[in-house]
Amino acid sequence: MTTDELVALLTRANEAYRTGNPIIDDDTFDHIYLAELKKREPEHPYLDQVQPDTVGAGSSKIRHTEPMLSTDKAYNQEEVTAFVVRVQKAADAQEIPSADIRFRITPKLDGMAARYSDGILATRGNGQLGNDITRNIKRGLVMLEGEKAGVRENTGVGEIVIPEQYFNDVLADSFSHPRNFVTGLIGADNLSEEAKEAMQDGAVQFVPYSGLKASECDVEDLLADAEGLCEKIEKACIYPLDGSVIDVLNLELRIEMGATNHHHNWQIAKKSKGVTAVAEIEGITWRTGRTRRITPVLNVKTINLSGADISNVTGHNAGNVKNLNVGVGAHIEIVRSGEVIPKLLGVVKPGKDADIPDLCPACKAPAKMEKDFLVCQGETCVAQIEAQLQHFFNTLGNIDLFGPSTINTLVENDIRDLAAIYKLQASDFEGMGFGPKQSTNLVAQLERSRSEEVEDWRLLAAFGIHHLGKGDAKKLLAVYKLEALDQLTSEQLIEIPGFGEITAESIPKSIALHWLAMKTIIDLGFNLRKEEKFDVTESVITDQFIVFTGAMQSSRDDMKAAAQRLGANVQSAVNKKTNYLVIGEKVGAKKIEKAESLGTKVVTEAEYLVMIGAES
Ligand SMILES: [Zn+2]
Repeated sequence: MTTDELVALLTRANEAYRTGNPIIDDDTFDHIYLAELKKREPEHPYLDQVQPDTVGAGSSKIRHTEPMLSTDKAYNQEEVTAFVVRVQKAADAQEIPSADIRFRITPKLDGMAARYSDGILATRGNGQLGNDITRNIKRGLVMLEGEKAGVRENTGVGEIVIPEQYFNDVLADSFSHPRNFVTGLIGADNLSEEAKEAMQDGAVQFVPYSGLKASECDVEDLLADAEGLCEKIEKACIYPLDGSVIDVLNLELRIEMGATNHHHNWQIAKKSKGVTAVAEIEGITWRTGRTRRITPVLNVKTINLSGADISNVTGHNAGNVKNLNVGVGAHIEIVRSGEVIPKLLGVVKPGKDADIPDLCPACKAPAKMEKDFLVCQGETCVAQIEAQLQHFFNTLGNIDLFGPSTINTLVENDIRDLAAIYKLQASDFEGMGFGPKQSTNLVAQLERSRSEEVEDWRLLAAFGIHHLGKGDAKKLLAVYKLEALDQLTSEQLIEIPGFGEITAESIPKSIALHWLAMKTIIDLGFNLRKEEKFDVTESVITDQFIVFTGAMQSSRDDMKAAAQRLGANVQSAVNKKTNYLVIGEKVGAKKIEKAESLGTKVVTEAEYLVMIGAES
């Protein structure tokens, strides 16, 4: 490979990495290709540039008030020591005693770098100019606070990340790395189902570096055991990491040391190299999830990796397993860094072709490939039923003991829906093999889930209606009553901020389809709590159909929301049902004529406000 080819490869690999579709893993990038370029041409300009990220390209450009640079890297104690020596040299020049040099160690989050200031969130971009990605805050990105000089604030430089645990629990079956998932969704024009749910669950978070738990140390500490100090701070962090950042704290030293085009000279990232091992595949287990996707788990001969016995490695999806030929007998390299579940790094020796099952392992219905995913085609897939029941109890959140094994036993005993579960007596549970004490407890938990107060939107989200997660359920029930959702129309839904055309179209249909089952559960009498400020107040416009048009004195969105709280059905256009057309300024005569011809009463904004009692 010529040096030009090497640089081209590095550039392409970096671009792929930054858009969430890496073509080589981080370690190979750093230790093989980048190391090779450093060896061949230490002064190559490629090594002195901030590698651009292109997420959000196409949105407006934001100039960073100060450049967002990369970080120089250290992979071992020797390289950290070399850094400390450089700092000491600068301290000598400033006549600062070595004992007065202070360092701070902060976890280095493995997400997507971003900066938030003056209400604008921007990517790093090329370090000088970033892309505006502020719209993600409206889409549900959680902005966490940091602390600067004792002041709580959510501004500054940080990373967009997903907590490790959430990724492992919810996304690891479908995505190979949290960073890829994050960069994919931040740049996407339309959020995928998974991305929407993660946003609604508050799992996608902007974390300013000032908000992370850090530790301070001096020259002696760093020279003695940099790795140990970093590990300690990394262990306490709940986000995916790829090491720690070591900063010099003395301001005069920072000024003395300065920066290159690429990085600050007073800062270094101590990268943690994940522990890798080679394991042999003995088989593949397929599991069907709630969405009927059938995902592969690679069963390997048990090996020990950084203190944990590993016998299963996620294969992500059927397409991946097929492309990599990781069937029985294959030797695969796996890596485990931090507390991340082990992931497949590469194939050392291919095995037999992986067998992709024709049938769903849970319900034996035919399974078909849909893009990279193997999907059960069964309408009443057992795995799907179990997963839906599990989703119900998890989302409700006020019931214990109904975990996977309990639910599995119920379904095996032909108890397949919630109505049947809520009818069960202790004797029924005993008949299925549960102990007497456990049976009493199970009944008590079912009772508890109905008597203990729970938010109404949780119950709605628990039904698992497509496109109706916790966030959207909350927005919907802020306007309409749970008990009357069978009357909900697409026209009403699209008027609620946060619902688009596709969801407004599909949600009422799905509710209609499942309404009987939903109503049965609602009628069991849960102790539902409704957000008080959204209680509908009876008024002259309750149950009336209203359209707002023209330029209003107050914001039209506010007027719509107020009307909805007064029980009105706000429509987007006049039709036969419309009772009132509220007109602002500059409304065409034709519009008014048409409304009147349909029997709609036309009122001005002022008349309307008097009518609802907002003004007299
Ligand atoms: Zn199935």
